[in-house]
Amino acid sequence: MNHSFQIGVIGAGAAGMMAAAEAARSGASVVLVEKNRKPGVKILMSGGTRCNITHNTNAKGISRGFGAGGRFLQPSLGAFPPEKVVRMFENLGVATKVEDTGKVFPVSDRALHVRDALLKQALDLGVKVHTEKPVLGFQATAQSGWEIRTNTDHYVVERLIVTTGGKSWPGCGTTGDAYPWLTQLGHEIVPPRPALVPLVGGSDWMHDLSGLTLADCEVSVVEKSKGSKNQLARRRSSLLITHRGFSGPAAMDVSGALTAMKSPGDCEVLLDSLPNLDESQLIEQLTDRSREGGRQRIASLLAQWLPKRLAQAMTQQFNADCIVAELPKATRLRLLSGLKRLPLSVIGTLGFDKAEVTAGGVQLDEIHPKTMESRICPGLYIAGEVLNVDGPIGGYNFQAAFSTGRAAGIAASKSFE
Ligand SMILES: Cc1cc2nc3c(=O)[nH]c(=O)nc-3n(C[C@H](O)[C@H](O)[C@H](O)COP(=O)(O)OP(=O)(O)OC[C@H]3O[C@@H](n4cnc5c(N)ncnc54)[C@H](O)[C@@H]3O)c2cc1C
Repeated sequence: MNHSFQIGVIGAGAAGMMAAAEAARSGASVVLVEKNRKPGVKILMSGGTRCNITHNTNAKGISRGFGAGGRFLQPSLGAFPPEKVVRMFENLGVATKVEDTGKVFPVSDRALHVRDALLKQALDLGVKVHTEKPVLGFQATAQSGWEIRTNTDHYVVERLIVTTGGKSWPGCGTTGDAYPWLTQLGHEIVPPRPALVPLVGGSDWMHDLSGLTLADCEVSVVEKSKGSKNQLARRRSSLLITHRGFSGPAAMDVSGALTAMKSPGDCEVLLDSLPNLDESQLIEQLTDRSREGGRQRIASLLAQWLPKRLAQAMTQQFNADCIVAELPKATRLRLLSGLKRLPLSVIGTLGFDKAEVTAGGVQLDEIHPKTMESRICPGLYIAGEVLNVDGPIGGYNFQAAFSTGRAAGIAASKSFE
């Protein structure tokens, strides 16, 4: 079937639904083409099906979280910061709440309400949503418009917005389809790699602790180059020990540093299980010769700060099953190092299959940061995770998708003025 619209958007995720709605707000005819049966599949599963919409900070706070990509995001985030995202959802009937971590969720704790609100907004503004239409490719027309092809349909549009996401969690439809199409048009794609992904590794004694959460610890990634150790990433948060390795924000937030290395063996992942105590404080406790302190068993001492199972496992692992007064110096030093710099023996990650985001994507200096228009192909706009931006856990990635999607939609519709 042939269709003609002023604006075509490929990919009905967070960025695509946002872009389509904003593009239609000025009255332009807009089609949103999605391969899945339902729009916003990734939203539905996000935040453990609660959808962490954004973070309780300002535009600067969000852009800082994105590291090198933050500067590119500043204009779109400045125009549509977390505060405005929250207001938009409240206006769409989705009340929000801020949790202690700063994460913003719908009060209902239902990602479905977030997806439905975004979809309804787009539909109410007149967007035509065509689902079950996997796009096979697109190309520029002689009339400076674009042709989009699916198996069954052929769309001609004047402006094209690409919001196809990355390669992570491919079961959601995100299989990196747009990378080759954009490469053909002259865009450079920074090689995609998994980020915010659980780590694989750990030794047998750690696996025996599977299911245990350390509420406050620090995980760091250091480069092992010629004996020197450079810290590549560090995150203080909670860590979950799994039967295959490590998950939770502390592990997932540093995973991108690991996947950026040629081989995971080029770096070491270290755990500081007691970030609140520095080494001198620990030494003081571990060398306490006072009557009461010296008689304390090491496992009981550690259990003051660590989950009991971990305290016991550490004691056994470091042969420190004794009272404080009888702890040999060499054992004390090994235990100290284990508490502050425990190598997690990470050998890799769970890959794109279980990555929450994709690092890499469309090279940012090829995109206008205010409008998301391609500097290489006028009339083509690119937004969301398909760009080379990836942020930490905490609502940062949806925030970026909303801000960049909105910027693209507004700019595409304004280009007709
Ligand atoms: C398990 C999980 C939990 C997450 N939780 C959170 C969270 O709580 N908070 C947060 O901020 N971020 C979270 N994220 C990350 C967040 O979901 C993404 O960063 C965000 O969805 C990116 O939005 P997007 O619109 O750019 O891409 P996507 O949401 O990935 O949407 C892209 C869309 O394009 C469609 N598409 C792709 N190719 C084609 C094609 N050829 N033809 C037609 N359609 C196509 C896809 O089917 C998809 O619907 C989570 C991710 C995962 C995997």
